[in-house]
Amino acid sequence: MDSHNHNQCITKCLQDAHHIAVQAGKKLTPQRLQVLQILLNDHRAVGAYDILAIMQRKPLEDRTKPQPPTVYRALEFLLELGLIHKVESQNSYYACTIDKPENRQHVAQAFICNLCGIVEEKAALAGAQGLYKKADGFGFKIDRVIMECRGTCAVCQTEQRQTGQRANTATGVNI
Ligand SMILES: [Zn+2]
Ligand SMILES: [Zn+2]
Ligand SMILES: [Zn+2]
Repeated sequence: MDSHNHNQCITKCLQDAHHIAVQAGKKLTPQRLQVLQILLNDHRAVGAYDILAIMQRKPLEDRTKPQPPTVYRALEFLLELGLIHKVESQNSYYACTIDKPENRQHVAQAFICNLCGIVEEKAALAGAQGLYKKADGFGFKIDRVIMECRGTCAVCQTEQRQTGQRANTATGVNI
């Protein structure tokens, strides 16, 4: 992901979170909010036990140290509201920072960089509708769709090219 104003991502996601929770008649408790904030730290996916470790290091005032069920319940809540997504292939979670469509339950396409771990999300709106229609055609009821692409992000590719060039210059190889 290019350099960008990440504070904007954080502000927007937290605004969405409050808005969506109110609309759904659900409560964004301090612990649920803390889990979301941990995931909003950057655009990398974090596993439940790493989230737990961070929460245990700085537990909220007036609360006992959180245990795994607390984290899993918070993750389930945030997943249900479409505020975070799970990277199934690595059993970890990332905060959704894209513009939420009218129907907040969108199909997320995750583009995951193998080198730096950044997850870029794009909403698969039209494509996903096609899938649902196809499933309808043979009476299949889709619960969820998982779209994960693995590869190298633009920033890492640039770095690779630069490192490659430096290596070539060092050995006197010209391409
Ligand atoms: Zn950001
Ligand atoms: Zn999303
Ligand atoms: Zn990368």
